[in-house]
Amino acid sequence: MKDTYFVTSAIPYINAEPHVGTAYEIIACDMVARYHRLRGERVFFLTGTDEHSQNVAKAAAEAGISPQEFTDGMVPKWLDVWRRLDVSNDDFIRTSEPRHAEPLRRFVQAIYDRGDVYQGTYEGPYCVSCEEFKPESDLVDGSLCPVHLRPVEWLKEENYFFRLSKYQEPLLRLYEEHPEFVMPETRRNEVVAFVRGGLKDLSISRNQALWGVPLPWAEHHVIYVWVDALLNYITAPGYGEDGSLFEHVWPADLQIIGKDIIRFHAVIWPALLMAAGLEVPRTVFAHGFLTLGGEKMSKSRGTGIHPFELLDHFGVDAYRYYFLREIQWGQDGNFSWESMVARTNADLANGLGNLASRVLKMVEDNLEGCVPEPPAAGPGPLAAAAADLAARYDAGVETVDLTGAVTALSDFVGEMNRYLVETAPWALAKDPARREEMAGVLYDALEGLRLIAVFSSPVMPTAAARLWQQLGIAEPLDAQRLPRAATWGGIPPGTLVARGSSLFPRLDD
Ligand SMILES: [Zn+2]
Repeated sequence: MKDTYFVTSAIPYINAEPHVGTAYEIIACDMVARYHRLRGERVFFLTGTDEHSQNVAKAAAEAGISPQEFTDGMVPKWLDVWRRLDVSNDDFIRTSEPRHAEPLRRFVQAIYDRGDVYQGTYEGPYCVSCEEFKPESDLVDGSLCPVHLRPVEWLKEENYFFRLSKYQEPLLRLYEEHPEFVMPETRRNEVVAFVRGGLKDLSISRNQALWGVPLPWAEHHVIYVWVDALLNYITAPGYGEDGSLFEHVWPADLQIIGKDIIRFHAVIWPALLMAAGLEVPRTVFAHGFLTLGGEKMSKSRGTGIHPFELLDHFGVDAYRYYFLREIQWGQDGNFSWESMVARTNADLANGLGNLASRVLKMVEDNLEGCVPEPPAAGPGPLAAAAADLAARYDAGVETVDLTGAVTALSDFVGEMNRYLVETAPWALAKDPARREEMAGVLYDALEGLRLIAVFSSPVMPTAAARLWQQLGIAEPLDAQRLPRAATWGGIPPGTLVARGSSLFPRLDD
């Protein structure tokens, strides 16, 4: 029985090192996974690497090593980046692993046995970089891949075909009955129009490729890399194995992908699943592209920026925050060093970080570092703002509006700053008669900081943990569970705070 929230990233192929674009997707998945854990749900967050690419085979040949040696050498470079980005994936599947190949073959055999695979000949333009046959109508100037703007090759092969055309009506029904299956709406419209235009059967094997998983009934064919890659989402949790994780996680709740691979994930993928008699994922969400100075980052064009170049300067929390807050989730967005400095200074150094250190310093200076009793008159206006934060954040993640969720957090920081300006606890501190009033204000401010730590934890786990430590709360941050963790009044009076160094040092422009 399904009892686990399942979120996936696409699995990038690893003929090169990660760049900021691939990292963008995984931090979004990570935020979602961490938030669902915060809600007390079981979570399975899957990522991995797509290794059976002919581009990998080519890169390996150029390096004079086998494809397996090549990918064995690349995977640690990806894992290093994910680790430094605080990515909390529960599994990492490599499609060159036997635990992938076996269930993959089982799946392909299952759709073959059910009559959805037949033998035929394919002839047509093929882009080696996309690893995809292109409809002639999609070509630019009659001969260029529309994605890569490079000449396509003309390929003729005896292949096995999946009866994709048979699923045109079931797919259209799926989009109609479950509009949340493809998000955002612009992508859904694109997918619906594409499927309405008619589906051709899909070649699912290659007889010239040497690197890949053989078809069970025709070992001289390898399974088309895209079918191979898509299957990772079910092979990793153990599709077809008794007592595996699969029955706890499937169908996936959220599959986050780049908009360039929407047809694979919103057309081919659900059709394959239907053919095997499996449920389709609940939501496939296609995010936009990051552009740098207006140009798409791309490893093949050499315009990719390695995440370390930014991490070394900004640190992991500012990095994650910036991309989730600054780039409107779901749309393309431009990023620049300057805007990253500006955003970090405004929202984190001057915003959240300064707020925390001011409040903690006032508590140290005026209350001997001790969390006071809550105000006798009851919670101030911050309690309502905190409830609003919790509701907006939850709605944001629930509707995959991640920027909306993070914006709720930055708005709450703004509310807290306004509250402090209005109540001016530093002025109250000078008047012994208003000491209790000051303590009440600081209690509410500390409680606000506690909520900031809780809601920061999916986005900025390291900074959230540091803030939590400064607040001195005994119960660990990772033991916090919603909705209780968002209930106003959770910081225990008598707790000793410990203001440390600032959470976010100001960056030079
Ligand atoms: Zn291409």
